[in-house]
Amino acid sequence: MPKGKLLMVGAGLSGAVIGRELAEQGYEITIVDSRDHIGGNCHTERDAETGVMVHVYGPHIFHTDDEEVWTYVNRYTTFQPYKNRVKTTSRGQVFSLPVNLHTINQFFGKTMRPDEAHAFITEEQADTSIEDPQTFEEQAMRFVGRDLYEAFFKGYTMKQWGCHPSELPASILKRLPVRFNYDDNYFFHKFQGMPENGYTVMIEGILDHPSITVKLSTSFDRSMADGFDHVFYSGPLDGYFDYELGRLSYRTLDFERFTYEGDYQGCAVMNYGEESVPYTRITEHKHFSPWESHEGSVCYREFSRAAEPDDIPYYPIRQIEEKALLGEYVELAEQASGVTFVGRLGTYRYLDMDVTIREALDTARGFLDRSGRGEAIPAFFKSPL
Ligand code: FAD
Ligand code: UDP
Repeated sequence: MPKGKLLMVGAGLSGAVIGRELAEQGYEITIVDSRDHIGGNCHTERDAETGVMVHVYGPHIFHTDDEEVWTYVNRYTTFQPYKNRVKTTSRGQVFSLPVNLHTINQFFGKTMRPDEAHAFITEEQADTSIEDPQTFEEQAMRFVGRDLYEAFFKGYTMKQWGCHPSELPASILKRLPVRFNYDDNYFFHKFQGMPENGYTVMIEGILDHPSITVKLSTSFDRSMADGFDHVFYSGPLDGYFDYELGRLSYRTLDFERFTYEGDYQGCAVMNYGEESVPYTRITEHKHFSPWESHEGSVCYREFSRAAEPDDIPYYPIRQIEEKALLGEYVELAEQASGVTFVGRLGTYRYLDMDVTIREALDTARGFLDRSGRGEAIPAFFKSPL
């Protein structure tokens, strides 16, 4: 006899990890996803023409300091070592990102050592009168100064977010370090890698349990909850309530696919810092699997724009207006019963994969603890606010 029947909405990382953890504890799990594949936005598939493993919804690199999460993903697939080394094109030259000593020396035509570069940036470039940067622009002016900001961040950010960097929070730029050495690894985490056979194969492994049933091309509606003891919902929070208070805003992405014989750009991700180039970056997927060999190449030019109702929501826009509406949806969610909102859409937050998995593991544990004590299950284990 199962301990109970649970419904997961979404077969991305959130739904898969929570489903697996609770299946292992004796629950019967049904997972529905409106798409015709599992994996959510991490979905990868081989390109029919070139055989290259493609990151269908944009480039995904796994990086974490969370040892339990790293052990968890390695249980379901083999990871190959992978370091993300991003380049950017601006003002007719190619530079290395994140901003490091090579970027600084090349950009300013100098041969500075680390301490000289540090002194140069802090004393001659950075605006140190900004003590507590609040906006993206202030953060950039405070830490790299106007010249680097205008070459690498201003145009890219206007394309990516559709607004001026002075309207965005400093937290968006805080994700990127500035380094006074030649380390060009985009991330600084202890564990970094790429699943050898793609993310979808890894998530297939997570879902491979006799108590898990996956139904694809199946959209959730609230009547589906009948017969289940609890629902974990990783779809859009406002969508659960049929957008009755209005829509939370998102950026969506359009990918323009093209192929090339040979090596198109020599790296996986080339950013375009200038506003005059309409796309933000070009991804050449075969460079995500350097252990494979392919003659043909498949690339995606990536364009960002405001999401319309029928578009895939990618990046939540968490400005003042959206946060007010989010607060209203959170209140509504807290009055609903029998449902917990999870993941990047259910909690309207930008979540990296490792954080998504960490929260999914914590959610499953929280559910087990509370149901074990006969307590009510909350709408959120992690507040969206
Ligand atoms: P999702 O993957 O969005 O899954 C939600 C699922 O729910 C989807 O499959 C959707 O079809 C389904 N669904 C929604 N509504 C319904 C409904 N009503 N009925 C049925 N099904 C529904 N993270 C990293 O760690 N490294 C990276 O390099 C990285 N790069 C990224 C690049 C881009 C462009 C983006 C957008 C994200 C990136 N991420 C990256 C973040 C990563 O994609 C997320 O952490 C992860 O996808 C979150 O998983 P999730 O299950 O919460 O959401
Ligand atoms: N960014 C930029 N220029 C770049 C790369 C990033 O201005 O070449 C800004 C942009 O606003 C982006 C933010 O820095 O949203 C965070 O960058 P990250 O690479 O983490 O973006 P994501 O992975 O979210 O696409």
